[in-house]
Amino acid sequence: MVFEGIKKAFAKLREHKDDEARQLLLEAGVALEVVEQIQLEAKDRELSDVIYERLKLLESPDLEAMINQGRSWPYVMVFFGVNGVGKTTAVAKVCKLLVLKGFKPTLVPADTYRAGAIEQLTAHATKLGVPFVQSRYGADPASIAYEAKKTNMGKENSVVLIDTAGRVEMDKNLMDQMKKIVRVAQPNLKVLVVDALTGNAVIRQVEGYDQAVGVDAFIVTKVDADNKGGVFLSLSKYKRPVLFVSNGQDYDSLQPFRAKEWIGAYLQ
Ligand code: GDP
Repeated sequence: MVFEGIKKAFAKLREHKDDEARQLLLEAGVALEVVEQIQLEAKDRELSDVIYERLKLLESPDLEAMINQGRSWPYVMVFFGVNGVGKTTAVAKVCKLLVLKGFKPTLVPADTYRAGAIEQLTAHATKLGVPFVQSRYGADPASIAYEAKKTNMGKENSVVLIDTAGRVEMDKNLMDQMKKIVRVAQPNLKVLVVDALTGNAVIRQVEGYDQAVGVDAFIVTKVDADNKGGVFLSLSKYKRPVLFVSNGQDYDSLQPFRAKEWIGAYLQ
């Protein structure tokens, strides 16, 4: 994987052609504030150090270890994200991975809004052979999430994976619903799923969700379809880890984010 636009931008930065570099970085989907920070930091430091340091902030933690540190069961993870980013697919992929690690996940369709959302998640549950919580359209997602937690209370190795509703617009109603889910389910980990192709708008998504519910980690989807790469530099602004990158449509396409592997795509 090589991100030509960013590579070109960094070459311009090294030649002190700041305006051209800035334009190329913006076109590659790097948020303006981050472009400015990188330009500033690269004035008196080696560019590769500046970039590596940023990518290091995104390194994936060991999810298995995090869950085991949770100490009480179930470990509850809730997934947020704008419509279409690949949230439901990501929940199913994390579920498969947890099964392989010996955990006992339950899928929770707490998107009771979008037609087909419940069936989409329950079909994954059936394929993966894991339990799911019964849900119905129009029901209160927070009470479904609460039920799932209660049912698994004290069950060793249980992990509750809550899929939530996303809309194109992050309206107040939706955010109030998300806040209620968090209040009631008290998740151990709040994951925001973002699409690598989002471009600069990722900033608005992160800040919208972060203000409403607090974001602990990201999953970045569709990296297989992204030839720009700007999303990771934009996300480095938040100093929070990328739990996984999603690199395709099949269940096994989740990968950890490793700065060492990615720096080459920007600089080599
Ligand atoms: P949601 O609305 O956020 O829950 O999105 P979905 O999980 O329904 O996914 C939306 C579309 O994106 C589906 O067609 C998925 O197959 C596709 N998708 C999800 N993750 C990836 C990925 O990593 N790569 C590619 N190429 N497509 C993906």
